[in-house]
Amino acid sequence: MNKERRITEAPGIGKKAAEDLLSLGVTTLRSLLSLRPRAYDDRREERRVRDASIEDPSISCRISIIRHSEFSSKAGRTLKVLAEDDDGTRIELLCFNRYFLKEQLRIGSSWYIYGKAMRNHGTYQISSFEIKRTREEAGIGRILPVYPLTGSLTQKTLRKAVEYALIALSPIEDELPSSIYDRENLMHHSKAYRSLHFPAAMEEAHDALNTLAFTELFLMELSILREKPESIERKSLPSVREKELISRLPFALTEDQMKAAEEIRKDIDSDTPMNRLLQGDVGSGKTLVAWLTAIHVIDKGKQVAFMAPTELLARQHADGAAELLSPLGVRIAFITGSVKGESRRLLLASLKDGTTDLVIGTHALFSEDVSFHNLGYAIIDEQHRFGVQQREALMKKGKNADILSMTATPIPRSLALTLFADYNVSVLHTMPKGRLPVKTYLVSESKRSDMYKVVGVEFERGHQAYFVYPRIDDEGDGDLRDVTTMYDYLKAEYPGKPSALIHSKLPDDEKMGILRAFREKKLSYLVATSVIEVGIDIPEATCIIIEHAERFGLAALHQLRGRVGRSTLPSYCFLVYGNNLTEEAKARLRVMKDTNDGFRIAEKDLEIRGPGEMTGERQSGFLHLKFASLTSDIDLIERARNEAERIIKDDRGLIKAENAILRNQLHNTLIQPRKI
Ligand code: ADP
Ligand code: MG
Repeated sequence: MNKERRITEAPGIGKKAAEDLLSLGVTTLRSLLSLRPRAYDDRREERRVRDASIEDPSISCRISIIRHSEFSSKAGRTLKVLAEDDDGTRIELLCFNRYFLKEQLRIGSSWYIYGKAMRNHGTYQISSFEIKRTREEAGIGRILPVYPLTGSLTQKTLRKAVEYALIALSPIEDELPSSIYDRENLMHHSKAYRSLHFPAAMEEAHDALNTLAFTELFLMELSILREKPESIERKSLPSVREKELISRLPFALTEDQMKAAEEIRKDIDSDTPMNRLLQGDVGSGKTLVAWLTAIHVIDKGKQVAFMAPTELLARQHADGAAELLSPLGVRIAFITGSVKGESRRLLLASLKDGTTDLVIGTHALFSEDVSFHNLGYAIIDEQHRFGVQQREALMKKGKNADILSMTATPIPRSLALTLFADYNVSVLHTMPKGRLPVKTYLVSESKRSDMYKVVGVEFERGHQAYFVYPRIDDEGDGDLRDVTTMYDYLKAEYPGKPSALIHSKLPDDEKMGILRAFREKKLSYLVATSVIEVGIDIPEATCIIIEHAERFGLAALHQLRGRVGRSTLPSYCFLVYGNNLTEEAKARLRVMKDTNDGFRIAEKDLEIRGPGEMTGERQSGFLHLKFASLTSDIDLIERARNEAERIIKDDRGLIKAENAILRNQLHNTLIQPRKI
């Protein structure tokens, strides 16, 4: 099929129409075929005047003209034409601004009419209608496409142009190898394009869309896979110190942790810089994989940077690293915006001359004044919290440094592989051994005191809790509980239990002090805002109480709940909700009660919010899909991915005869994943 034939070749498409079509992405006859109808107008059944109802006002039938009259309206002198259909039901045609119809609609002549009628004081009237000489012209008996319009384009012009393109470009060739049509039960493309525009039945339009969506996704997956370097089947062995770290742990690594560490190690030992995403639900133990692989790099004589989104989290990681890695002789430094003066100068010097092996910090890591002796590996925790520029700034600090991005945003694998096209992906599916699922309770106001009792019992067992509120102070309107008020309230509820208030307005060192005290069990509970949402790891905390839970999104709730259930102790999450919940809020809370599985929750979230939101800055201009949806076609993505993998495995270069089609297709499609 010639892809270059211009759109102006079609009848009725002049310069102006071509310009309008350009804004719909249509430039050639070929691209016109891919213009997706936004709806269909089902005129298969003749609908006579009497069939018009409020639910479905459309009529499409033959009428004969009886009489002309006139009336005055805002539009001036207006023509009114009385007609009747084959049943003899009468209808008035109100011809606003169409006085010229008087000549055409001669008394006694017959026409086919299509439009929306309404009944006014017992009289049928119609003001927006099309009138045609023949049944065919009126589209009666057919399903007609309804296109998106812009400028001076009309449905009529577009339908005609598409009809022309379908004929002019025929025979339309297959776009996929024939085996795929059979396996995936797809329509051949010649039929698919015709059915997309002029289906004989609605199911046919649906099948056509399905085929075109599949094709689009398949080609996208194929180009993604072709860009990826082939995986290397070389063995990479852990260093002596890595083995030492493993042997010192009080627990065994999970299979997935071992596998992920192995995959990362291989990337590190290869010549091409790594760009890998480590995906794992909250609490799956991503940090340990980071430390293990950090040692691998340090043992090769290079430096490692570990970046976290908040000071609180960076501090926690620095403490953890000090405990695990210092005994192995790893030289660690901690940097945030608040490290200043002489200590900052010394720290920067040690990074520059290579006497620091591992630096942990916030975005302060990529400040102007930070430079490395030889940065070999950058680890980004909670990567979705950082912008593209921030990540790039860190990457610039090292030459060809390997990069590991960690995230707890648990999206379905096929979608992750698609959205993060330029990453390799490792996944921690399994939780560490002995973890019990967090028990989740939905708590209404009337059950509040029972809840306090249960938490009180946990305190008696020496366990700890988080109380989370959406607000810092009482801002006067009184309808939301806030940390400050509740801090006092809880003091009275749990007399003698030490506690602390923690929120974003506290100075960072104060926050860190509180978290340390909590970790050391000097505090029984924290009264917090969602500052504790990300990453905080205190294994002995077994309860989290989230007030006004309906105010939080699913992803945030899942992250918050992930603060507990981080040891072998049974743990509890209480979601306290207010009155007057919306249906959507109820559905969200139910999801939380029903499942602990981050992947399920993410899928639900995807349904509610769409993939753009979940992937942050990737949302705009990433993929321009015409037929497929990354939100609702997860199944199709999966199938397309599998087919693409099958082809790549068998014929990476696409040199086999049956794949020649694909080689051309890839050349011609503009679907390119955006590099970040
Ligand atoms: P996340 O993946 O959410 O970042 P962390 O890395 O913070 O999770 O790990 C959660 C907790 O699980 C930590 O206390 C960590 O020490 C512990 N942990 C990690 N791996 C294992 C394991 N294999 N067995 C038992 N506990 C583990
Ligand atoms: Mg973490």
